[in-house]
Amino acid sequence: MSAEAGHGASVRIEACGKTFVDGTRALEPATLDIARGETLVLLGPSGCGKTTMLRIIAGLEAPDPGGRVLFDSKDMTAVPIERRNVGMVFQSYALFPNMTVADNIGYGLKIRGMPDKERAARVAELVALTNISGLENRRIDQLSGGQRQRVALARAVAIRPGILLLDEPLTALDAALRDRLRGELNRLLRALGITTIYVTHDQSEAMELGDRVVVMQKGTIAQIGTPREIYFTPRSRFVAEFIGAANIVEAAIEDGHLVLPGGRQPVHCDGDMSAAVAMIRPETIRVAAAKDASLSGTIDSVSFIGDRQRLVVSGASNRLLTVDAPNTVQARPGERIGLSISPDAVRLLPPEY
Ligand code: ATP
Repeated sequence: MSAEAGHGASVRIEACGKTFVDGTRALEPATLDIARGETLVLLGPSGCGKTTMLRIIAGLEAPDPGGRVLFDSKDMTAVPIERRNVGMVFQSYALFPNMTVADNIGYGLKIRGMPDKERAARVAELVALTNISGLENRRIDQLSGGQRQRVALARAVAIRPGILLLDEPLTALDAALRDRLRGELNRLLRALGITTIYVTHDQSEAMELGDRVVVMQKGTIAQIGTPREIYFTPRSRFVAEFIGAANIVEAAIEDGHLVLPGGRQPVHCDGDMSAAVAMIRPETIRVAAAKDASLSGTIDSVSFIGDRQRLVVSGASNRLLTVDAPNTVQARPGERIGLSISPDAVRLLPPEY
């Protein structure tokens, strides 16, 4: 464990809603507890209120009357941002372009009056931690996007904040770099042990980085849970579809079976249910020999998606299921195919109102 560990504060936002002066209701009153050292990801589509929630925690925005923000049980609602001890990183870095890497990282320490020698040592520590050794004397405008992002992170954590707030920090980078930095960020956040709140609209980023994920929808919290809970037991169709590929099927239930166009699929359900909306992840569906299959259909299309292939299979008259199968499975459009799904892989969703 690094010498950095153990600086986290716990965060509670209590009944925090936000209506902007123009009447836009960005956030319905929400209450959330974030444990010391936890990485919590706010995930959702554009405009769902993620940034507004982050800005309320930072102190850049006040919640509507009645809302409170607490750090380590202390009411911070009226405390200005510079006294909240938060580090922030945004999509657009907000670094000083004409200053060197080292001066950018040390900026917050300098304005807090840290002596030169101590500051230089702290900057050296962060340069090593964020893998930017050798770049200390470069100006920001001489760096790549990935390097700038590392500097922004180093600057944010230099002041040893109790809480780190990250708003889409990887969005501006290309896909390959984003993947790599995501792994590095994961390692860094674990090493730092700082309480982190991370905003993204990218579900794979959310699952990789979050101890817990908050899925937001139109200013409300649709679901909070670990990445596995959100992925395998979504509470609504919106969550199911936002967090990955999902088959959503509406079907009658008879004797513990979903009645689908291609057959009868066993499910876990209450005895008195007569119909349901079910969610089945494509990779949980197995291609099976006819004798082992609960469903059968015709392959409509086969697409190669890298580590596996995606089959669209239709039942008697309509589209049945999307199936992600290993590349070793022989499958051609027009062929008949048998499918087997464990009842555990079928998630029944509550009806939508
Ligand atoms: P994105 O991923 O696009 O950044 P977001 O989930 O972070 O979206 P917010 O930035 O929190 O969403 O915005 C939530 C809603 O509040 C949006 O409808 C937005 O247009 C609105 N909004 C944000 N800031 C203001 C403001 N200062 N005045 C009025 N409306 C605002």
